[in-house]
Amino acid sequence: MVTKSLAAEHKYLTEVPIPGGLRLSSTYEGMAHFAGTGPIGKTCAECGFYKLWKGEKPPKVDAEPIRRVCLEFQRMTHRRSTLTVPSNVPACKYFSERPE
Ligand code: SF4
Repeated sequence: MVTKSLAAEHKYLTEVPIPGGLRLSSTYEGMAHFAGTGPIGKTCAECGFYKLWKGEKPPKVDAEPIRRVCLEFQRMTHRRSTLTVPSNVPACKYFSERPE
């Protein structure tokens, strides 16, 4: 399932500045927390909770983004989610470095 950013989904919400110059519009439904609240420069693609297919490598920074689910969001909500998040979204505060 392709999700829209929260700002696109809820146009009535007030845009709140997030430290680091990020915006609510960077956050997607299906994320464990707000985009940009994690380590600076990291993206969901580099996070261990970003579910890749078996044997799949995370896309490079300059590559076309893919869409996968966040396992931390699924754990928090106690359900299997089909809400996919783009791989190039700035990481949230639950970011966990993907093991090599
Ligand atoms: S940084 Fe990790 S925990 Fe946070 S939304 Fe992205 S995949 Fe999920």
